[in-house]
Amino acid sequence: MTARVLIVDELLPNLKLLEVKLSNEYMQVETAESGAEALAAIDADPPDIVLLDVMMPEMDGFEVCKRIKANPETTHIPVVMMTNLSDRADRVRGLEVGADDFLTKPVDDRTLFARVRSLVRLKILMDEWRLRDRASESLTLLNGNTDSYTEAGTDARILIVEDKESYATQLTEILAVDRHESIAVERPEESIDRLMNDDFDMILIGLCLEGQDALRLCAQIRSIDTLRHVPILLLVEESDSERLAKALDLGCNDYVVRPVDRNELLVRCRTQVRRRRYQAKLRDNYERSFEMALTDSLTGIYNRRYLEAHLSGLIERIAGGRRYLSVILLDIDHFKKINDTCGHAAGDEVLQELCARVKKGVRSFDTVARYGGEEFVVVMPETNMGVATTVAERLRQVVADQPFTAITADHKLEVTISVGVAEVDVTGGETTTSLINRADKALYVAKSKGRNRVMCWSTDGILDPTGTIADDDN
Ligand code: GH3
Ligand code: MG
Ligand code: MG
Repeated sequence: MTARVLIVDELLPNLKLLEVKLSNEYMQVETAESGAEALAAIDADPPDIVLLDVMMPEMDGFEVCKRIKANPETTHIPVVMMTNLSDRADRVRGLEVGADDFLTKPVDDRTLFARVRSLVRLKILMDEWRLRDRASESLTLLNGNTDSYTEAGTDARILIVEDKESYATQLTEILAVDRHESIAVERPEESIDRLMNDDFDMILIGLCLEGQDALRLCAQIRSIDTLRHVPILLLVEESDSERLAKALDLGCNDYVVRPVDRNELLVRCRTQVRRRRYQAKLRDNYERSFEMALTDSLTGIYNRRYLEAHLSGLIERIAGGRRYLSVILLDIDHFKKINDTCGHAAGDEVLQELCARVKKGVRSFDTVARYGGEEFVVVMPETNMGVATTVAERLRQVVADQPFTAITADHKLEVTISVGVAEVDVTGGETTTSLINRADKALYVAKSKGRNRVMCWSTDGILDPTGTIADDDN
């Protein structure tokens, strides 16, 4: 994986050394010698990650980081702060101004490279979600306000995997400060069980589980679809740098070195939880906007756009095969009259009630879609014309037999539908349009024969449910 890295350090030798090292790892490196220069470079052409020295004259690293994170255009760029001082208060301060990591020089190369790769990977993923969010926003005008990163990152559910009870207890106590609810387990197998059956915002794993392979557990969690995005924070020993680098490459998100500094642990957890929730929100918005683009707002069922995509996919799949697929096209009789006499609102209620009855009358794997104003289509996979006609007749009855109640009308409404049925021609050349056109022809005959009836299209002509050919010449 390659990445564009911006290194910010006032000392040229430091810059050069790091530049060479990262270039050897096939990263594209740019440099800046002051905070102001860095901010200008980021503004002009945002990098994938910023490595930032803390001690700089004029504007120090804390201030630079704060500004990067305060700007909605750059807040998603990971920042790693580096310092010669190993002051814990500084470290926490760095994390609090939004740094994604705070490393003490000399920085172990392996850890640094692994850290850079893992943060860049995450950024690329987030970029993709943000891009989709923008696209869906313009598609549906859904404004989820997802660009703000304001989530507190507290009150999370956290799974702790740690085999030493005293450690686990200590962690639980620390996490309680931010009102996190933690559940501790001792063994990797047990943790997978828990994770599969319960929702967690984050996982804390002790890297030194006795006689057990914590790295394998990390890999396993990352390979399970539903757990892929749950952040993993590791607790490591100073001497663990090799395994830590591996863990970061496996997709672990962050780590804290033992002995654990409580403030550092808390702020790192908050960052992970916040990011997790932000990402979940982006995904949620995306799915919701998709739904909005493909469903009809009045009835909540699929719209014509979805129907056409879905049906053409099904037709393609059965083309040339020996499988069945039928469609039912139904249209409310004299619907205009309902609108005219009872009002448009009552008409809307009738459409909703009709939808509910139709959906109840078909199987779960049949698709009901609103095709036009008062026209609906039912797509029935694995269904031949005979069965589809029986279903169509049943739908006609469930509509005609019980009058409709509309709150906005002062009396019950008699509603009937006319129905056309057609089956896919598996000999080839079938399209969504040709199939629906045949159902429409049958529907037209049903209308002309007096409405409130079912007709089906066959190669011999338009038939009624008893199989009699209608004399109408269509
Ligand atoms: P037919 O039996 O020949 O189908 O007669 P019809 O009156 O049902 O057919 P027509 O196509 O003349 O009228 C359909 C009406 O459906 C006209 C339109 O105003 C109404 N309509 C379409 N969409 C909606 C909607 O979302 N809500 C309401 N209330 N009415 C709608
Ligand atoms: Mg109608
Ligand atoms: Mg119509």
